[in-house]
Amino acid sequence: MRRFRGAGRARQRPFDIATLFPQLAPLARTSTRLHPRPGSPTVHDSSVGGPLLWPAGEPWPYCDEPHDRQASQTVHSPDDVRLLRHDLAAAEERLRLDPEAPEVTPEERENWERIKVGRPWFDGPIPLLPVAQLYARDVAFPCPPEADLLQVLWCPFDHAERAHPTTALFWRSAATVTEVLDARPEPPVVQSQWYLPEPCLLSPEQVTEYPNPSELPKELRAQLEDMSRWASIDPALYSDYAYDPGELYLNNLCHAPGWKTGGWTCWGLSDPVERPCPDCATDEVPLLTIASSEWDSGSKTWVAEEEPTNPAPPPLGARDGNFTQIDIVGGYNLQLHACPADPSHPHIELVQ
Ligand SMILES: [Zn+2]
Ligand SMILES: [Zn+2]
Repeated sequence: MRRFRGAGRARQRPFDIATLFPQLAPLARTSTRLHPRPGSPTVHDSSVGGPLLWPAGEPWPYCDEPHDRQASQTVHSPDDVRLLRHDLAAAEERLRLDPEAPEVTPEERENWERIKVGRPWFDGPIPLLPVAQLYARDVAFPCPPEADLLQVLWCPFDHAERAHPTTALFWRSAATVTEVLDARPEPPVVQSQWYLPEPCLLSPEQVTEYPNPSELPKELRAQLEDMSRWASIDPALYSDYAYDPGELYLNNLCHAPGWKTGGWTCWGLSDPVERPCPDCATDEVPLLTIASSEWDSGSKTWVAEEEPTNPAPPPLGARDGNFTQIDIVGGYNLQLHACPADPSHPHIELVQ
């Protein structure tokens, strides 16, 4: 398997927005885009959906909350989802090499006929799935003292009042894990195939972010939408919405799309809300963004440099550079926020 480490550089940012609007300069924050790419991570790699450096002597976490049976017609086993993805990718590759090749083989059809029926619903406790593992040496994120490893797991089901997977965070010092668990328990079924992350390696890239327009002072927001203030820039070079510089700021200049740590909160589904730490009331800040896509047609300046020329077709369903195969509530982000006073305080989940 080709390793993509180091290949995830975004194109040059269009221009320095803080030169044009100096009031933005003090609001600059660094975020680290993860650029997940298909790979075979080990426990020693930073990854999405890869194996975790989990101590052999520590019990694996389970979710015993009630799950929303109404939310899906059929549920699938993780292995069925993997087989389906394998068959879809194989079919796409076959047709790429030979457009006259059969769209589906008898074996693929047989697999699909079996998989589409689904598996029995399961009501017992669900072992959590690894979602991300981040080593501080690879990716910048707020860490409690002594910790240099963040492990994010989730329960691949919808929950009461939360129509998305529920996450659990574990902070560790990697050096203290001497004996590593070699076989984790696997959920018998997942509520949605989009809740099973595809194993990916990361190509971290640091970028500068500015606040979502809804978090800016009114006066600055009005300036950003005033065409005459953009005289030295031609927005048409960077955005399909050339007549609307506010749109250019929102989609291409403030916060980066895709998987990342740090940066600013990606508001969009709702107006900004307070995010006080449940333990100490300090305002929580973005820790990890679990994204449904890496970019969209309006935010092409954020497309990683190698993508347009990457000769390998993405796995089927990997739209807009989304190699993780994760989808949150139909294309949104699940942005985890952590307490800057002590990141081991309870985190906040925000879908935007
Ligand atoms: Zn659960
Ligand atoms: Zn706190």
